[in-house]
Amino acid sequence: MNLKKRIYEDYFKPSRLSEYKAVLQAFRDAGYKMVGIPDLYNLITLGGGGKVFINRHDIDTSPIVAREMFEIEKDVYGHEGSVTYYFRDSTIDKKLIKDIDDYGYETGYHYEELATYEKEHKLKNIEKMREALPECREMFLKDVAQFRRETGSPCLTVASHGDFINTMYKIQNKEILRDRRTREQAGIIVEAYDEAVTRCIQARYADQVLLGHFPNEVKQGITTGYDIIMTLTHPRNWKVDFFSNTQDNIMRFWQGLKYK
Ligand SMILES: [Zn+2]
Repeated sequence: MNLKKRIYEDYFKPSRLSEYKAVLQAFRDAGYKMVGIPDLYNLITLGGGGKVFINRHDIDTSPIVAREMFEIEKDVYGHEGSVTYYFRDSTIDKKLIKDIDDYGYETGYHYEELATYEKEHKLKNIEKMREALPECREMFLKDVAQFRRETGSPCLTVASHGDFINTMYKIQNKEILRDRRTREQAGIIVEAYDEAVTRCIQARYADQVLLGHFPNEVKQGITTGYDIIMTLTHPRNWKVDFFSNTQDNIMRFWQGLKYK
């Protein structure tokens, strides 16, 4: 995204939350069941019919806007469904996580230990990064346990976050969970990018790619009548949170500078 567009998106765009609500209403009116990642996993393993819309949020920034999205979901689908919210260490909001879990939706950990490890150790070599995977796995185990302790979230599923380090070396944080023992030790039933999850999805819409085009694209998918649709959304793309965006932009700039 070029700088001009980034500035518009981060600081000047009008709220798109009413469009988010309209997307949910379109799903509901077309008879889609709204589910989170664990429900989908159960549907795949146990079987189930009907149209399904998997609603996943990665809370990379702004738990404040995430709460507004949660309120919209409660309003449109209420207890008739679920949503999965993945929080990073930097976006943990204990009250919001508790409210989401208490309501019956799902929260999980948005992990990035491989990127964090590389920022600390500056191996700057893909092979060495692979060799460091056992250490990243140990970090992950500690961090998941800490996430559960701190938030009270059951955290049965997790999703890999994408950082500039992952883009730079073309290696994803999910490499950490390629190890079965790590999954078992962490008590993780499924990773959001597992093939078991992704292979059954007929259409996938991500807001960081579609931005303002997201609502219309998704509505077209609904009209097409796909049986299983996934949406991946981030609060940042729906409403300006001046403080959170500025904090994240400074952090990214600083980390980039330090890494060099
Ligand atoms: Zn993320």
